[in-house]
Amino acid sequence: MGSEIKQFCKMLEKSVSPFHAVEDAAAQLDKAGFSELILDKAWNLYKGGKYYLRVYGSTLIGFTIGDQRQPKDMLRIEVAHTDWPCIKIKPMPEKAGSYAVLNVEVYGGPILNTWLDRPLSIAGRVALRSKKVFEPEIKLVDFKRPVCVIPNLAIHMNRKVNEGVELNRQIDLLPLCGTKKDGNWFVKELAKELSVEPKDILDYELNLYPVDKPTIAGVDKDLVISPRIDNISSVHACVNGLIGGTRTDGINLIALFDNEEVGSKTKQGGDSMLLAHILEKLYLSLGETREDYLDGLAGGMALSVDVAHAIHPNHPEKCDITNQICLNEGVAIKQSSTQRYATDCGAVAIIEQICRKNKIDYKKFVNRSDIAGGSTVGSFVSSLLAIRAVDMGAPILAMHSAVETMGAKDQENLCKLMRAFFS
Ligand SMILES: [Zn+2]
Repeated sequence: MGSEIKQFCKMLEKSVSPFHAVEDAAAQLDKAGFSELILDKAWNLYKGGKYYLRVYGSTLIGFTIGDQRQPKDMLRIEVAHTDWPCIKIKPMPEKAGSYAVLNVEVYGGPILNTWLDRPLSIAGRVALRSKKVFEPEIKLVDFKRPVCVIPNLAIHMNRKVNEGVELNRQIDLLPLCGTKKDGNWFVKELAKELSVEPKDILDYELNLYPVDKPTIAGVDKDLVISPRIDNISSVHACVNGLIGGTRTDGINLIALFDNEEVGSKTKQGGDSMLLAHILEKLYLSLGETREDYLDGLAGGMALSVDVAHAIHPNHPEKCDITNQICLNEGVAIKQSSTQRYATDCGAVAIIEQICRKNKIDYKKFVNRSDIAGGSTVGSFVSSLLAIRAVDMGAPILAMHSAVETMGAKDQENLCKLMRAFFS
């Protein structure tokens, strides 16, 4: 296993919530000599500087400024998302009854039945009582060990289970944490985990996560099987690209947004003014003008990095009839005339030339004309900034399953492309 894949597996394992994904990305940038900026404070930026900021805990923006930079030098952006479809814990979650069961809700569009009968843990962030009311103390939490399971109904109680079952989101997905416990037992457990008093806990954003570790599999050891491949594969490649990019003239920037799986329309999501505001502040902090910023957008380019659908071994008929991509065949360049994926032949041609020059495998991906496919942040970023953009990513199988599968070589190609775009 190459060092890049080892590092990728580590990141998959650590990114148990969007908050943890941002923590891990920030730790890697710290290690690479980046300085942290604060969103609502003044920024003293220098040519040759490397910076990042965390936005509301679950979005991260990082950038480098070339030491030879002139105001008209090109702006290059790579975006990805830090969240994935999962199950989240509601407030006052303890359900009365003979078992310790939690009340939960579904986040995004997971394949629900893949969450059944597997050991699950809990992670996220908790807001605690503080001296200043406008500054509650925020702590990350990760139970790390398996603490619950969502049990299937036995086949004897549901003889039609193999004919397909529709799961009810309020009835069938409640996780079992043990046998009967009293009152607000969950909040007490959470307090214990954080070494605080239960009365100090004001609110939380917690998700269940499968504890499965990333696994290298296949007779040639060229498959990666893991939870959260969508979209930690892209987060990993963007962080890797920003650290490894060698440009000395322009601005390289990565934006790792939360909330893509629920439509991106949040203050820290891709369909917000966040990136436009941060970019404008970046230009002004460098002593450049708003006109320079607008010119930067007009001449700049963004890559929207998110996973694509590889051709399924048992269902090849679900793919387009001429544009198909197999695992380990390269990075998928995603196109759609509906603009669900940012599609611009000039921008695609730039990426193809970078791939050819750097010997990076790639293939074009288009959905079957009678299947809508997914959407991602590319079209939001492209339209809000009015910037050229290309959607791309690693092809994977079982997208939105609790455990997904991809090709190891595709991750290496993706990292290579993210570095080449920033070089
Ligand atoms: Zn995704």
